[in-house]
Amino acid sequence: MDIVDTANATAELFMDIALSARKNVAKVTPIYNPAGARICIDCLSPIEKGRLAALPNAARCAHCQHLHEQRSRK
Ligand SMILES: [Zn+2]
Repeated sequence: MDIVDTANATAELFMDIALSARKNVAKVTPIYNPAGARICIDCLSPIEKGRLAALPNAARCAHCQHLHEQRSRK
C-alpha cells in the first residue's frame, strides 16, 4: 500500500464516520466469527479493527459500507 492508498483509506474512514454519525446508523445485532472477531453482515469478513475502534456499532466492513451507501443514494 503506497502513500496515496493510505491517504484514500484514511479519507474513506473519516467519511464513513461522518456519514454514520449524521445518519445515526440503526443498531444491528453484532455477529462474531468463531475466533471472536466481529464480522460484516454483507461479506462475512472480519470488520477492520480501526473501523470498530471508530465505530463500535459498525455492522459492515468499510468496503461493504461504502457499497451500501452508494446503493442507498440511488
Ligand atoms: Zn463486508
